[in-house]
Amino acid sequence: MTLLASNRDHSFGFSISGATKVVGVFGYPVEHSLSPAMHNAAFTQLGLPYVYVPFAVPPEQIGVAVRSLSALGIVGANLTIPHKEIVLPFIDEFTQEARDIGAVNTVHIVEGRILGDNTDGRGFWEPLRERGFKVAGKTVFILGAGGAARSVVFRLAREGAHIILLNRTKERAERLASAVAEAGLGAVEVLLPGDEQACLEALLRANLLVQTTRVGMYPHTETLPEIPLAGLHPELLVYDLVYNPICTRLLSEAERRGCPTLSGVKMLVYQGAFAFQRWTGVWPPTDIMERAVLDGLLKKI
Ligand code: NAP
Repeated sequence: MTLLASNRDHSFGFSISGATKVVGVFGYPVEHSLSPAMHNAAFTQLGLPYVYVPFAVPPEQIGVAVRSLSALGIVGANLTIPHKEIVLPFIDEFTQEARDIGAVNTVHIVEGRILGDNTDGRGFWEPLRERGFKVAGKTVFILGAGGAARSVVFRLAREGAHIILLNRTKERAERLASAVAEAGLGAVEVLLPGDEQACLEALLRANLLVQTTRVGMYPHTETLPEIPLAGLHPELLVYDLVYNPICTRLLSEAERRGCPTLSGVKMLVYQGAFAFQRWTGVWPPTDIMERAVLDGLLKKI
């Protein structure tokens, strides 16, 4: 009885049995992932017989790991660094979002087949929708052109935003702009890195700034993206995808200049919530998931 009570306090809210369903995350390394705490908190709250487990899968084993999900009866998994792209050859079917982004962050076993999805675009979008931010016809300045930027750019392009892209490596930004054009989603304006004047003018006409690079991320919390801070005007919503720290240096500079801000914590929660819904058919309590993420981040400080 005592053992069961301590299980309830510290882990899944129920004892593991033959009826327990397993989901998890494949990463390498994976020990710092906040996803187990976030998903297990939601399973406990809803009393669902699921458990979310971190799996440290070396990159050369990702095919074996994904192909074993069905045999093990594992319902699905998230994929994180370094697996999001190298897993593609082992997937049977893709959602349109995973195809657009060229990467998978969620797999789901459906009748023995492996479905690859990417929930980052929806995870990014949901906090904007919640705030009532209307994107159609607005100008969005995006910093970065990596994996996260791809999910953001495709989502915003589908919603009818005018997109301006700036990345340290211009060729990567141009490749992303071409991919958007090839998908028939319109033209993306690419800025020349180092052209401060063009960058300032673009920021001044933007309604939303989305920071998708690794700049400012723990442990380099003092770093700031190379943009003219004078472009941060009070009508600009500044959205930083970095969630550790919760308030990046960019977000503090933006707040000092009167800009409304959004941290990457909510995107992390919602990209997880869409995976949770895919696996269980149930929309999770996102407030409980957010609490678990914030607790995890505060413990890391
Ligand atoms: P990625 O594919 O490796 O792309 C990294 C991006 O950051 C590239 O645009 C890269 O520019 C740029 N960059 C890296 N170091 C830089 C530096 N010192 N100066 C200027 N630019 C630099 O990574 P990703 O998967 O897109 O992730 C990017 C960030 O988004 C990470 O901080 C990650 O935690 C965050 N993220 C958050 C969520 C969430 O749920 N909140 C989800 C996904 C990602 P180059 O092309 O020039 O190398």
